[in-house]
Amino acid sequence: MAILVCGGAGYIGSHAVHQLIAKGEEVVIVDNLQTGHRAAINPQAKFYEGDIRNSDCLDKIFTENKIEAVIHFAANSLVGESVEKPLKYFNNNVYGMQILLEGMVKHGVDKIVFSSTAATYGEPEKVPIEENDRTQPTNPYGESKLIMEHMMKWVSRANGVRFVSLRYFNAAGALEDGSIGEDHHPETHLIPLILQVPLGKRDHITVFGDDYPTPDGTCLRDYIHVIDLADAHILALNYLRDGGESNIFNLGNGQGFSVKEMIVTAEKVTGQKIKTEIGARRAGDPAQLIASSDKAKKILKWNPQFADVEKVIATAWKWHKNHPDGYSD
Ligand code: UDP
Repeated sequence: MAILVCGGAGYIGSHAVHQLIAKGEEVVIVDNLQTGHRAAINPQAKFYEGDIRNSDCLDKIFTENKIEAVIHFAANSLVGESVEKPLKYFNNNVYGMQILLEGMVKHGVDKIVFSSTAATYGEPEKVPIEENDRTQPTNPYGESKLIMEHMMKWVSRANGVRFVSLRYFNAAGALEDGSIGEDHHPETHLIPLILQVPLGKRDHITVFGDDYPTPDGTCLRDYIHVIDLADAHILALNYLRDGGESNIFNLGNGQGFSVKEMIVTAEKVTGQKIKTEIGARRAGDPAQLIASSDKAKKILKWNPQFADVEKVIATAWKWHKNHPDGYSD
């Protein structure tokens, strides 16, 4: 039996595929390559170029392969873009989930691990954030992921498809050998943008606001290594295999790092001075987003290996140094 990874050519999906194959799992990937990269597709996986909104494509995959479970990463994930183009997010993310769940029900696939986000919480009531805290997304991206969770909840009750939703905080880093990593167009994430300065691709990094109510005035985020995230998906899969009930887990390190701390750490890792300018706040940025991942640690027995943010940035640096233009496709 195989695991169907939707979005297996994307940043987190490609790392999850790598870890699944390393654990001896059989993997089938479907990806429309809208934001994923052909070069990120693991050659040991069977690949279908297709869109999960196309039910014929899913019928073909579910018919040609014995699919035991789905791990679902195929979605748009840029907060800013989602504010500009909410309907793109409702179509690709929400409608995509509907067609995927219809395909799963039709073909009797009853387990799904879902890539969710801290953006489902919106402005946190308190930190660290726990799974039962208020969910009030402040952008269409977070809203689309919350709707997708709700869809799985109701389908789980009506059709017996059990799910685990993993709400990631700030995914970061790359596979340690530097062979796969993060490559977004346009890039909006802090670590790759910081590293573009020592790579000579950007003159400086702009800090989005230094007047937040935090120790150094810049936003605090919880950076979690992509391999630790990938491993959590495998634990979630095994949890469902063992009969675990549908559930939601936060995934983070539980420790907040400020934008300024990230820049200083990147200077240490790269051995270069990183020119910094202070800019205006970015709309919709909460002052701090920090996870409590106690539930994942307790129930899934998740034990992140990259708790040290310097190690996280070092793996990102290795990838970006080896691939200054990303996958170039
Ligand atoms: N950030 C910044 N300058 C940049 C990009 C990001 O100061 O050029 C800040 C952003 O305001 C946030 C943190 O870095 O506080 C992490 O942003 P990112 O976009 O990586 O992830 P998010 O927290 O939005 O998911």
